Amino acid sequence: VKKGGKNGFQFYSHELNSQMEEKIKLEADLRKALSFNEFFLHYQPQVCSENNRLIGVEALVRWQHPTRGIVAPNIFIPIAEETGIIYEFGNWVLREACRQMKEWQMAGGAFIPISVNLSAQQFYQANLGQYILSILEETGLEPKYLKLEITESMMMDSNLSNQILKELSEFGIQLSLDDFGTGYSSLSYLKMLPINQLKIDRSFIKDLTNNPNDKAIVATIVSMAKHLQMDVIAEGIEEKEQLDILKENNCFNIQGYYYSKPLPANEFEIAFLST
Ligand code: C2E
Ligand code: CA
Ligand code: CA
Ligand code: CA
Repeated sequence: VKKGGKNGFQFYSHELNSQMEEKIKLEADLRKALSFNEFFLHYQPQVCSENNRLIGVEALVRWQHPTRGIVAPNIFIPIAEETGIIYEFGNWVLREACRQMKEWQMAGGAFIPISVNLSAQQFYQANLGQYILSILEETGLEPKYLKLEITESMMMDSNLSNQILKELSEFGIQLSLDDFGTGYSSLSYLKMLPINQLKIDRSFIKDLTNNPNDKAIVATIVSMAKHLQMDVIAEGIEEKEQLDILKENNCFNIQGYYYSKPLPANEFEIAFLST
């Protein structure tokens, strides 16, 4: 019990209750969100800064809540994970992203991979590989056009992750290590696992123009990726100065507001696929 006597404590417990009520409400709404078609995807371009060509696109989920407006994934994905909703939800995201990419390809544009975020729990879902294969078959998207974004925390159990990643990679699906440098991955995993891409986290980009340590880290990641024969992409680029420093350090694959925010499918199409 904190200072402030019984009133202080009462206030604290009220606060806690309303926080829990809030979460329970959100959880109940989340259970209905899939069947009510309240989820949709936004698409953020990945661009090569040397020639300004589109090299990929990341699918990012949004929840159009009936009364709250758009709820950000950082708010509802943790709840979806706690409640197990993440499995059905994650499968929906995968299917919708593959379906959309195939539709764009049929319309004649964009033979580029679509990056889809996997949550840790989904990663350990039984038969994940087979399930993803069935989505690819169903949508007609070739495996090489799907890039799964995983995080370092998923590689803690190295035996299991080794097995899952190997299977996905043998299918021809690409793998990107998201938020690279912020987790606990040991570098020895990196050389064993069939990772295609390292994604430099925005936390190293934010102060890149002023902070020599960030510059050193970025340069090191780029050079390590090259030696391990992996691609590298930087995320969260907002300014020309950041772009220039990345170019100087041979990092040309860029994702960030500098090129575009994540956009609804139709806007992404107009801005990046129609020429
Ligand atoms: P993330 O995978 O690291 O995605 C990048 C986040 O940075 C996105 O936020 C994106 O909108 C934002 N971003 C992109 N460029 C910039 C920039 O230049 N400046 C700034 N300040 N931000 C930028 P978003 O869409 O809110 O997603 C947040 C997180 O939620 C994602 O982080 C990812 O971990 C998770 N998430 C999003 N969609 C999915 C999904 O379909 N499945 C799963 N499991 N997680 C998802
Ligand atoms: Ca991501
Ligand atoms: Ca990221
Ligand atoms: Ca991040």
